[in-house]
Amino acid sequence: RASVKKITTSSQALDGLLGGGIETRTMTELFGEFGSGKTQICHQISVNVQLPPEKGGLAGKALYIDTEGTFRTERIRAMASALGLDPKEALSNIMSIRAINTDHQIAIVEELQDLIAKDDRIKLVVVDSVTSHFRAEYSGRENLAARQQKLNRHLHQLVRLAEIYDLAVVVTNQVMARPDMFYGDPTVAVGGHTLYHVPGIRVQIKKSRGNRRIARMVDAPHLPEGEVVFSITNVGIRD
Ligand code: ATP
Ligand code: MG
Repeated sequence: RASVKKITTSSQALDGLLGGGIETRTMTELFGEFGSGKTQICHQISVNVQLPPEKGGLAGKALYIDTEGTFRTERIRAMASALGLDPKEALSNIMSIRAINTDHQIAIVEELQDLIAKDDRIKLVVVDSVTSHFRAEYSGRENLAARQQKLNRHLHQLVRLAEIYDLAVVVTNQVMARPDMFYGDPTVAVGGHTLYHVPGIRVQIKKSRGNRRIARMVDAPHLPEGEVVFSITNVGIRD
């Protein structure tokens, strides 16, 4: 694990929970209910990956696969400016791709390989959200097995990208509140909550008071479990 690199989230507390930041060579799942801040964190790290290493970045670029149409250039500009980056340049270092359905999403990831192989500055791949199209297209119990199989393949492809190219993969997964009740129940888990069956790091994001959020590390292989508080501010993620 010596060569794993980290991308700061701009929250010391959240970085602490993550053992320094979002890791390369790993898929990190951010799961939580609507409005918990998953997309905000994805925007923040797409900016932060561009920072020089001494400021917590990888002097890299990001690929942002947007399945819900929630990528906001304005938000990127604001976050970049707050960190002293040129907003225009920051935007140009983030390639956002809108995925319109599961087949499109899968095809995009399959083609990423070529893109990444040609550009070793790409150090972060975001899929926000990785599950929404799958849930919409494969709803109903009779489709669960097919959905799970297709989603699994997709997720493992993402994990491989992270491992082969030494980059961070971050996926989001909207789950309803109270996911605690689901733990240990794989039948409920089928695309229904956390992606427990895929290797990687899982972080639950919960709403707290106002702009405060709670991040909780869930069954990480090499990180202690725990909870921290961070904030979503007008300039981005902060303590
Ligand atoms: P979903 O599951 O619906 O996609 P999410 O977890 O991605 O939800 P986000 O979109 O990341 O949620 O978070 C939305 C929240 O972020 C808003 O409710 C607000 O509290 C906060 N937020 C968004 N933009 C700003 C901003 N410019 N300034 C301050 N807070 C903001
Ligand atoms: Mg979102």
